[in-house]
Amino acid sequence: RELPTDPCTDVIPRQVFHACYSKVSPSVQVSNPQLVAYSLPVAHILDLDPKQFERPDFADIFSGASSLAGGFSYAQCYGGHQFGRWAGQLGDGRAITLGEIVNSKSQRWELQLKGAGKTPYSRFSDGLAVLRSSIREFLCSEAMHSLGIPTTRALSLVTTGTYVRRDMFYDGNPKDEPGAVVCRVAQSFLRFGSFQIHASRGKEDLEIVKTLADYTIKYHFPRIENTTKSDRLSSSTGLENDSIVDLASNKYAAWAVEVAERTASLIASWQGVGFTHGVMNTDNMSVLGLTIDYGPFGFLDVFDPSFTPNTTDLPGRRYCFSNQPDVGLWNMAQFISALSSADLLNEHEADYALERYATRFMNEYQAVMTKKLGLPKYNKQVISELLNNMAVDKVDYTNFFRLLSNVKADLTTSDEELLVPLKPVLLDIGQERKEAWTGWVRTYIKELSGSGVQDEDRKALMNSVNPKYILRNYLCQTAIDMAEQGDFKEVRRLLKVIERPYDEQPGMDKYARLPPAWASRPGVCMLSCSS
Ligand code: AMP
Ligand code: MG
Ligand code: MG
Repeated sequence: RELPTDPCTDVIPRQVFHACYSKVSPSVQVSNPQLVAYSLPVAHILDLDPKQFERPDFADIFSGASSLAGGFSYAQCYGGHQFGRWAGQLGDGRAITLGEIVNSKSQRWELQLKGAGKTPYSRFSDGLAVLRSSIREFLCSEAMHSLGIPTTRALSLVTTGTYVRRDMFYDGNPKDEPGAVVCRVAQSFLRFGSFQIHASRGKEDLEIVKTLADYTIKYHFPRIENTTKSDRLSSSTGLENDSIVDLASNKYAAWAVEVAERTASLIASWQGVGFTHGVMNTDNMSVLGLTIDYGPFGFLDVFDPSFTPNTTDLPGRRYCFSNQPDVGLWNMAQFISALSSADLLNEHEADYALERYATRFMNEYQAVMTKKLGLPKYNKQVISELLNNMAVDKVDYTNFFRLLSNVKADLTTSDEELLVPLKPVLLDIGQERKEAWTGWVRTYIKELSGSGVQDEDRKALMNSVNPKYILRNYLCQTAIDMAEQGDFKEVRRLLKVIERPYDEQPGMDKYARLPPAWASRPGVCMLSCSS
């Protein structure tokens, strides 16, 4: 449907009261914009004919230089807790929604340009994005989706042909970097902070929290909107508030529980593949349970629970790998508190939602780890001993599990042979550590041998949850270095590889290699919030 377009250039940074969004049009300066890469699967969900990528004006439209017919562009108002402190209004400072598409399956998809110019929420910054961070967001959205992890998607990545000044290392030596725009796609970009901001503004805006919750439930949680009282009654979970809380009597409580469970399950899947978000502020937490806002994220190379890809988060390490589940709960508590202050939840319902986060996380995490090891049932000791050994010997988190699937469940294997399948990831370990690993593998084999599952079947199952190819930081960096020289081939190659993370891909083994020495040199792969 053609909507009235009212191009708005009023982008003076300001506090926007009593509103969920501001109308704003992209204002990015372009000079011969170029299409760097695009995602065919995302084109498919939008019913977009891949021939459209060849249109001469594609890069104009998807850099924001030309408007998209039928669009209604706006920037969202939201707030958030940043590093544990309430930061007030944040909002889409450099993201502009172009509008929504309802596809042939009646799914609603929002298209958003990131880096297309200033909005009322740009605060002290320029509203732009650089090629470096845009490549990372584009590739990682698609990588996460292919890993089977809920995420916002990316349709396209274009360069603007103009330069953006960034002080990447905060050392007073800013650099001009190529500007770029990613077209992000999601069913919704609503965040915890989208609700928090209105709850924070006192009585007058509490009604907005309710209006926005009604909207969200209606369009994005129709099952909750539609279920009858008897359908919605959940089976007993044995939790403390189980008998007090009746989810059927309050749709907001049913919704809060669903958000809590989706978030818990999302974070369990992050832990499974070693993904570290880097900036888990409440403005970066999706109410649909999607991974959102790819900045200084990182996948684990060696297993290190304190891994913190975001240099802005050192030395506090609030958002390190092993803290993510607890931070998820803390963030959930802030979200629940916003709903409670608008009287959408009572005290028991609020506590109950948080309890459900905790139980759902534990259940999912245990299931994820059990599958990764190919165990017939969850075994806490085998898993924690393994993670402990991996941390001590700095073992690669991805390649280890892939190799573990080659271990034979044969109790007669000799000590010498036991570690052979794991050799490529157990380099340079001394005799004492060899013994520790031999002991662990023996216990592991004992667990497996009673299961009755054939080695080949277990291997196939394990390989379907343990990726061979992940978006290692150094792989991204190689693609970025080439793209900054105008060569986009590596971005496109890497996209193809990470689209099939669980498959053996002949000839592509180099993409599964451990990071080379250059990647750990100071400054080479450094990441921070500012990009
Ligand atoms: P992030 O850490 O990426 O989640 O961003 C936090 C806030 O800063 C959000 O409100 C962003 O929209 C805003 N922001 C980040 N980079 C820019 C930029 N270059 N221009 C304007 N706003 C920005
Ligand atoms: Mg953000
Ligand atoms: Mg960001």
